[in-house]
Amino acid sequence: MRTGRCLCGEVTYEVAGDPIAVAVCHCSHCQRQSGGAFSVNLVAHESQLTLHGELKTYEERGELGDDVYVRRRFCPACGSPIVSELAKSAGVVAVKVGTLDDTSDIAPTVEVWCVDKQPWVSLPGMAVSLEREG
Ligand SMILES: [Zn+2]
Ligand SMILES: [Zn+2]
Repeated sequence: MRTGRCLCGEVTYEVAGDPIAVAVCHCSHCQRQSGGAFSVNLVAHESQLTLHGELKTYEERGELGDDVYVRRRFCPACGSPIVSELAKSAGVVAVKVGTLDDTSDIAPTVEVWCVDKQPWVSLPGMAVSLEREG
């Protein structure tokens, strides 16, 4: 059982079982949301995640039409991103690895949206590199 929390501690969570993957996302939206060069995500089934506390949800919509394609959920008190839900992969969640209490056994092997990757970023150990989302 993995545990995690936001910066202020209002939101806590548990992730049961093994993740599907640990994936780095270089997309410009993750860069903007995180304030960093990329996001690191523990990809798991929604049923593996138990959230405690109140989260706020930012719904990202496509440029054409108004379909929601990502729901970015974060702590409204401190702003920490906690989890993203991908509309096209229903039931799959991406938990933000930086909010885990213990990251000692986390090693990403997948990177996506390399088209937006900062030119000075080069990550070792990637088994899969995709130009866009996986
Ligand atoms: Zn918080
Ligand atoms: Zn992204």
